[in-house]
Amino acid sequence: MPSRFSIRDAMPAFSTTDCEHALFAAKWPDGFRCPRCGHPHYYEVSSRARTLFECRSCTHQASLTAGTVLEGSRTPLTKWFQAMFLMQLGISARLLSELIEVTYKTAWLINHKLRHAIGVRDRERPLEGDLQLLDEYYGYEYHRYLGSVLMQQALKPQPVVVGAALDAAGDFVHLKMKAVDGPDGDDAAMRGGAGGEEAVALFVEKHVAGQAAGDRAERLERGHQGRSALHIAWREAVRWLNWTFGGIGPKHLQAYLNEFCFRRLLVRTDMLAELIACCGATKTITYRRLVGLSSRIRPIPWAYRRPERGGRCAV
Ligand SMILES: [Zn+2]
Repeated sequence: MPSRFSIRDAMPAFSTTDCEHALFAAKWPDGFRCPRCGHPHYYEVSSRARTLFECRSCTHQASLTAGTVLEGSRTPLTKWFQAMFLMQLGISARLLSELIEVTYKTAWLINHKLRHAIGVRDRERPLEGDLQLLDEYYGYEYHRYLGSVLMQQALKPQPVVVGAALDAAGDFVHLKMKAVDGPDGDDAAMRGGAGGEEAVALFVEKHVAGQAAGDRAERLERGHQGRSALHIAWREAVRWLNWTFGGIGPKHLQAYLNEFCFRRLLVRTDMLAELIACCGATKTITYRRLVGLSSRIRPIPWAYRRPERGGRCAV
């Protein structure tokens, strides 16, 4: 990753008008539609604070951010767009808060709202075609080197299934990494015994289109020397989670995995446009819901979780 100074230089100078146009196109890809009556024509009503779109038929005033991930945010549009731009680099909330000059909590919330939009997009697109599947454990590889018996007993690695559709050249057509509830008895998994059959079955059930799709899936062997595209992508994901964030606890692990897959799939394409499109099409999520997310996932007590700072938004 480039140093923070070059990141700052590389950030485009978004104007409010540019952002409004881009968000308008993302929210109404087929042109304006009144949210109340569906009428396609509007008057633009600009005030100092924001632009509203008044329906010519029923006079309903629609704001640009209503019904999008940006709804209710007091952060200027231009900062949101800078945050979207920076998500292409996979940066932490701490660095984001420095770069776009908002508080840590605001940066954390923006990043998580963007991840929420990515997650919604991901749910709408199940895997299909000829698949490869790999069951892994987040935390497992790293833990082995600590070698402490005590810690090994406390270890609750998080089962993750990596699934992908690849083209003839071996490039990803689609990629998902899902933290799924693992098989009973993580001890067996810790010893490298029982594979994640149950995790893989759950993954196929939830994230693969079509009943017979699982039949066409090739199951890859777990191993940190693995040379397949899936093994490599998983190692990249773990490295990113641990180096950039100091590791991620179970509550938000899925959101980060979704972000990683989004970036990995859209590399060399217009990722920013895609992110703006999903933000415009996704209803927002509140801070309360984000921090209150319950997880059926077992905790990882040894995790590289950062000490809590600035309220309850530590990750
Ligand atoms: Zn109307």
